[in-house]
Amino acid sequence: MRPLLLPALFATLTALAQPPDWSKINPETLRHFQALVQIDSTDPPGNETHVADYVKRVLDAEGIPAVIAAQDPARANVIAHLKGNGARRPLLIMGHSDTVRVDAAKWTTFGPFSAARSGGFIYGRGTLDDKSDLVAALMTMLILKRSGVPLDRDVIFVSEVGEEASTGPGIEYLVNQRWGDIDAEFCLAESGGVRRRAGQPFYATVETTEKQPKAARLIARGPAGHGSRPLRSNAVVHLAKAVATIAAWEPPMRLNDTTRTYFEKLAAVSSPEDAQRYRDLLNPQKTAAAREYFASNDPNAFSMLHTSISPNIFQAGYQVNVIPSEAEATLDIRALPDENIAAFYDQMRKVINDPSVELVPDNRNQRPGAPPSRLDSEAYRAVELAFRKVYGISTIPVMSTGATDMAFLRAKGMNCYGIGAMVDQEDAAKGYGAHSDQERILEEAVYKHVELFWEAVTSIAGRH
Ligand SMILES: [Zn+2]
Repeated sequence: MRPLLLPALFATLTALAQPPDWSKINPETLRHFQALVQIDSTDPPGNETHVADYVKRVLDAEGIPAVIAAQDPARANVIAHLKGNGARRPLLIMGHSDTVRVDAAKWTTFGPFSAARSGGFIYGRGTLDDKSDLVAALMTMLILKRSGVPLDRDVIFVSEVGEEASTGPGIEYLVNQRWGDIDAEFCLAESGGVRRRAGQPFYATVETTEKQPKAARLIARGPAGHGSRPLRSNAVVHLAKAVATIAAWEPPMRLNDTTRTYFEKLAAVSSPEDAQRYRDLLNPQKTAAAREYFASNDPNAFSMLHTSISPNIFQAGYQVNVIPSEAEATLDIRALPDENIAAFYDQMRKVINDPSVELVPDNRNQRPGAPPSRLDSEAYRAVELAFRKVYGISTIPVMSTGATDMAFLRAKGMNCYGIGAMVDQEDAAKGYGAHSDQERILEEAVYKHVELFWEAVTSIAGRH
């Protein structure tokens, strides 16, 4: 048997040793990327089936088995499989096909679905979020198929609908109805990225956990009355006091593996003053002062320290001379991944300490909680190596204060890593970021992202 193995081994080594010819692949990447951005899949309503049809045509043409998976015919997901030898469990690579909506009047220079190329950038809704991940995952499937790289794991590709507005026909349908088709040990999806500063890649972030979006309403009640005779029991006054009290309260700080590593690693690449503040967070004697600094200067870092509460809607009264009997505020609560939310609500009730104010949990639009994905896994190390190889930079794990569909997969036990394309750090403040009125991506970043995906996927799923 031995001589027979040698040619196979030789073929394996050559396949792995031959890097793809990116100069040939980039024009193809550009063509698919522009086509995807030119499809209007703003959500609501989504209509992602137009994206699904395009993606499936591309996969079909390559001979990659792909199926449409749709709960709603207008909102089709696509699932495609490349078979491995089954030695290890599958790898899932996923991009979402919907985008947030556009205020078309604000897209004055380039249209939102133009995919216009200008000055080294490509403009359009979804260029950053998330059609760059979608095209990188798609291109990785095509290159894997053509190169015939032997795989230990199945590689599963998913073009997923409804991430931005309604998870029902997307991730919830996939997890609840198509789990057998997407179940994997690891997943790569959106949310991290490469920061470029002054034209140089600086560091990469990988999202390994995220906060859980929770919400609650505060409802104050009191007797209605004539506005000419003020009442101590006025519901508006009680609600205002409760909102001010809860906003001033600092919930207990708690770090997890990801956030502790985040601050440590961020310190290593920051200016001396910033680095000191990140280190102070980890020093019990200095935590309070550092925290206070972040509260005023870095809302993202501050939010990562604890379950946060932001009062965002206030409703009360209907006529100037009427004391209303009810007033209501809605709080956006972002819980740490391990928060016991029922106990947290009870703590809030104690802090508010007012029997005329009721706290009512709001269970709409929830994503499940889950432990952070591991930082010592084979997949995390492979992603770290891929960033090092493609960009020459180090990787910092992050906890997103926002939410992604990876929450549903992590809740099923899958280790998920959010990666993303390279972005100029200065761009968001200039109004070019994700969800902005002139969303754009560096053209070079699209190509680099395909390389990054390719490196990570072949090292996680390739034959060992
Ligand atoms: Zn997104």
